[in-house]
Formats: sequence, structure tokens, C-alpha cells
Amino acid sequence: MTKATPETTERRSTRQRSLILDVVQHSHAHPDAEEVYRIARRKIALLSLGTVYRNLRVLVEEGLIREVQSAGKVVRYDGMLEAHSHFQCTSCGRIIDLPRVPKFDAPKNPELKGCEVQDFKLDLFGLCPICRTERKS
Ligand SMILES: [Zn+2]
Ligand SMILES: [Zn+2]
Repeated sequence: MTKATPETTERRSTRQRSLILDVVQHSHAHPDAEEVYRIARRKIALLSLGTVYRNLRVLVEEGLIREVQSAGKVVRYDGMLEAHSHFQCTSCGRIIDLPRVPKFDAPKNPELKGCEVQDFKLDLFGLCPICRTERKS
């Protein structure tokens, strides 16, 4: 009988973590933990939801992925680290990436007189096409 040495356990958890990172980075849907779990389990059958939660937390702490708060519902994860804006559907929670809003004329805002703007974030909220259609029918 082979005993699991700390080394093999470590290697296994590294493999799990890089798979989970891969899933988040390749999904543009800002998946929540359960969606990450569903996709990752196709590659590692013995993965548990708890492991996914734990690894997502570590990846956020390491700055490799970001947490996105979706309209008061579950936490979703974003593999895109560059500053960008989101459109969030307030009905289904779907998040769409927006390229950075190109023009922000800070000097024209009297409230910002004397400030140096270094970054900004603008999130849009509303109904996605699917929810709009459902509401009409
Ligand atoms: Zn929607
Ligand atoms: Zn995003």
C-alpha cells in the first residue's frame, strides 16, 4: 500500500488549483463557484465543491483572479485582471465584460478640482437580452 506523502498531496493540489485557474480564465461568463466546479469536475472527477471554494479563495488572495459582486447574489469570479467595466443583468445576474470606457473628462467635473484621477470604474446595470425577451412574453 502506498501512503500519500506530503509531496504527492501537494502536487495534486497544485494540479487542482491550476485547473481551477484555467477554468476561470477561459470562461468569459464570470462563473460562480458551482459553475467552476461543474466544468472542472469533467477533468478531475474526484474534485469536491469545498476544494473549489478553497482554491478560488487562494487564487483571489494571490491576485490571479478577481471577485465580482453580482447584484447581491452569489460571488462570481473574473479571470480578466485588467481594469474593465461590467454590465450586470439585475434579473439573472449575468455579467458582460465591457472594454474600458475610453473617455472620462475629469477636469470638467468641478467636484474633482485639484484631484488627479488615476483609475476609474463604471458598472452598468439592467436587463440582458434574454431577460428582456422573457419579460415581454
Ligand atoms: Zn438576464
Ligand atoms: Zn469581467
